[in-house]
Amino acid sequence: MTKTSQFNAVQPPAARSSTALGLLRGAFCGNLTLQSCIDCGEIQYPPSDACRICLCGEFSWKPVDGSGILLAETLIRVSNEPYFSERLPWRIGMVRNINDVSLVCHLLPGCSVDQKVIVDIRIDESGRPVLVARPEIESRVHETDVPRPWGNEFNSSLVGKKILLDDINSPFAQELIQLALTHGASSVASAKHGRGTNDEIFIRMN
Ligand SMILES: [Zn+2]
Repeated sequence: MTKTSQFNAVQPPAARSSTALGLLRGAFCGNLTLQSCIDCGEIQYPPSDACRICLCGEFSWKPVDGSGILLAETLIRVSNEPYFSERLPWRIGMVRNINDVSLVCHLLPGCSVDQKVIVDIRIDESGRPVLVARPEIESRVHETDVPRPWGNEFNSSLVGKKILLDDINSPFAQELIQLALTHGASSVASAKHGRGTNDEIFIRMN
């Protein structure tokens, strides 16, 4: 998460469908994890309630290779969202993943069009899962010299972190609790409100 104090306490937009929250699985595991159709096996993004090929409504969540090619990028210079307006310009781009899906991602410094990138699922400051692309080869670019987002804009690891969930009772929350503890979180607790501190990650479940 952003550690600097130059910004107000505004957070990124938090609206997500319950289906899209399934991406949290990948954020907790540290892998790109996407829907896979039970009937035809299609990998799809964005998350949907029906398969784009066969209209089946049942999916598993499958860890997949995050490799791909950055097809296009754009630099956002104007936003009505207070969180982004404080941080402009902000880079996003379209990645063609090797599983034949297109992914709209936040772009970390060093990502270049037509070059290989790796897409991860990370957790933003609203406790929501977001797709983040990084260069295949570690960049030597100084982050403060280039547009955001920078690496510390997102949580990329649960190791040693205390996870705060605003709902711990649903089957999905119970699944996340097991994933969090398996992947290095120090503890999981219930918290109805709040922002995570540097050692805490607050996850919105609804
Ligand atoms: Zn299908």
